Amino acid sequence: MISVEIQSARHPYRVLVAPDLLTQAGQALKDAELPLGQCAIVSDTNVGPLFGGGLAKNLRSVGYEPKLITIPRGEESKTLKQAGEICEQMLDEGFDRESFLIGLGGGVIGDISGFVASIFQRGIKHVQIPTTLLAMVDSSIGGKTGVNAQAGKNLIGSVHPPVLVLDDIDVLKKLPQREINQGFTEIIKHAIIADAEMFQQLEAVEPKNVDFGPLIQRNVELKARIVEQDEQERGGPRALLNFGHTVGHAIERASDYRGIGHGEAVSLGMIAASEISMKKAGLSKSERDRIANLLRKFGLPTQLAKNFPREKILDALKFDKKFVRGQIRYVVVSKIGSPNLSTEVTMDDIRAAVVEL
Ligand code: NAD
Repeated sequence: MISVEIQSARHPYRVLVAPDLLTQAGQALKDAELPLGQCAIVSDTNVGPLFGGGLAKNLRSVGYEPKLITIPRGEESKTLKQAGEICEQMLDEGFDRESFLIGLGGGVIGDISGFVASIFQRGIKHVQIPTTLLAMVDSSIGGKTGVNAQAGKNLIGSVHPPVLVLDDIDVLKKLPQREINQGFTEIIKHAIIADAEMFQQLEAVEPKNVDFGPLIQRNVELKARIVEQDEQERGGPRALLNFGHTVGHAIERASDYRGIGHGEAVSLGMIAASEISMKKAGLSKSERDRIANLLRKFGLPTQLAKNFPREKILDALKFDKKFVRGQIRYVVVSKIGSPNLSTEVTMDDIRAAVVEL
């Protein structure tokens, strides 16, 4: 079993990566000293039926009293209203401050369940059991939780690190290929901003031959090292993880969170960020092409549909959290593995990159 220890300002926590981990989840929770008694498992309408029952049974066998709460699948569930409904349901079931909450699902479930854990009874413990590749390598690490607002993505939220993360790589066998591909967006992003060697390895590997265990471990460690230096994203390296996300989030919002997935939108956002990096950070054309080729190799989009209304993306950009008091701090790369936060990027640069997408 792979075990990665992550430091957080609140508490250290462990990420376990192994096949068949769901059948050992109860013991893992006990080992992490989660108190026996009531716990909520928040999942979605895809993942709950697949893994919720088995997980609940396993937890019961070691003395926990789980209650499965299932919400509709998809980004549209990541709302304050849905978070409120989960809280109400937990109150109806008699959950108290000693109970804890498990998020069983992809990044949507991790984000909303972590947010609920951070506000329910002023905060209870949160366990992440990510079931998408994206959630394993990215969203389950670092404690960012949240829901979307009318004005944009993740605008309401908190930093509430989990106490334990369980990555059962066997659950990926049920994950549709399109979702696997979306996980590679964040892996490729990590490679671009922090790991030129992993970038080369990804260029060399056949997508169908990827060994998920070591790849997940490497990405968990990489994200953890960045987050540990700047947990609250206060001007430090955590902001570098936003490479491709400014335009990516705007594309998601412009498409009303339908039709295009988070990973696909960020893939397009990274193409825009690479164009901007060529202009403002000296990224070479050959490195830009390597980035686009790698994204394509993992089945990710590098061109926006011709009829997609570009103006809607430009409109959505102004809601981005990164535009701190009008000042844009934009993540650019001068070469693969060398990122920096630039204040030189103008709205016109971003507009031009969006129009070219
Ligand atoms: P998702 O949670 O919507 O999951 C994608 C789809 O796969 C859903 O339909 C889900 O039901 C289904 N699914 C999940 N696991 C499955 C499995 N094992 N088998 C079959 N189907 C399965 O999306 P995602 O791509 O995992 O996450 C995207 C979300 O993560 C976005 O909301 C994004 O903002 C957020 N995110 C958060 C952070 C963070 O640091 N908190 C980082 C990156 C992304």
